[in-house]
Amino acid sequence: MRAMVFHGPGDLRAEELPVPVPGPGEVVLKIDAALTCGTDVKTLRRGHPVMIPKIPTVFGHEFAGTVSAVGAGVALREGDRVVAANSAPCAACASCRGGRPNLCEDLLFVNGAYGEFIALPPRLVSLNVVPLAPSLPAARAAFAEPLACALLAIERARIEAGQTVVVLGHGPFGCLLGMLARSCGARVMVVGKAGWRFDRLKRLGFACCLDATAAGSVVEEIRGLTGGRGADVVIEATGRPEVWEQAVDAVGRGGTVVFFGGCAPGTSIRLDTRRAHYEELALLGAFHHTPGTIRRAVEALESGVLAPDSLITHRMRLDEVGRALELMARGEALKVLIEP
Ligand SMILES: [Zn+2]
Ligand SMILES: [Zn+2]
Repeated sequence: MRAMVFHGPGDLRAEELPVPVPGPGEVVLKIDAALTCGTDVKTLRRGHPVMIPKIPTVFGHEFAGTVSAVGAGVALREGDRVVAANSAPCAACASCRGGRPNLCEDLLFVNGAYGEFIALPPRLVSLNVVPLAPSLPAARAAFAEPLACALLAIERARIEAGQTVVVLGHGPFGCLLGMLARSCGARVMVVGKAGWRFDRLKRLGFACCLDATAAGSVVEEIRGLTGGRGADVVIEATGRPEVWEQAVDAVGRGGTVVFFGGCAPGTSIRLDTRRAHYEELALLGAFHHTPGTIRRAVEALESGVLAPDSLITHRMRLDEVGRALELMARGEALKVLIEP
């Protein structure tokens, strides 16, 4: 089979590999659709010891496919269309037993979306492979993983209908978070920066799109649009410490901030302790996904609550993954659909 193999930072190679054969409890999928992700760009640049503990490995982690072979003891059948998450929790550690499997101390990561076939280990097969309705196209189903991450953040925020939710960041995650918040009945404002992505954002039908480069102060602007109160919920989706600070500044009394965008290691932010205390701000992190949010993401895609197809800006073939990730790195693509 053809595959794009990650050999270390800056080293992605097109290779011919044997089609995997499933062992007991394993499943092999023929990949129907894969999506590029900002994480791929970061990982290609500097590696990722958590998601990619050993190299070489076939690259990519967002995909949907069709079961092509099953090992002993697997309930799935050849021909089943499924989506698989890129990790599976251990179900045994304190975090897993405490109902927070996204914080599992032994998350098993699986890579290999950018290949013709992928073998899924038993733990993933038993916990995080979800069959798809025939009506759900593979390209849309491949959004399950990023959508499940966004859903975890939205669930953490406990958004109620009628609330004002500000999303800081206009990348694919900012858009998914905004779409999900809107599906909760919230009035959604998304903050981005002028350019083609911002023009696209404006077509997604949010209550308001704020251009951070035009606003003198994003925080003042948000306060102005909320009668001086600040937002009920602010979700940070840029991963920049100065924007984390803006997120706290833009939230109102009793409000909730969700830090979704991970910053570079070693960064810190200043925090107005008076506000955090007397205004009872809820400051929450959101990381990764759970078997529950993966399933709920697939349900949202199947029911049409969410149709994120508009975030796909390019379609390319497997051997064009390198070029796709360059486009991503230059900010010229949102999501590239890779069809082997
Ligand atoms: Zn991703
Ligand atoms: Zn665990």
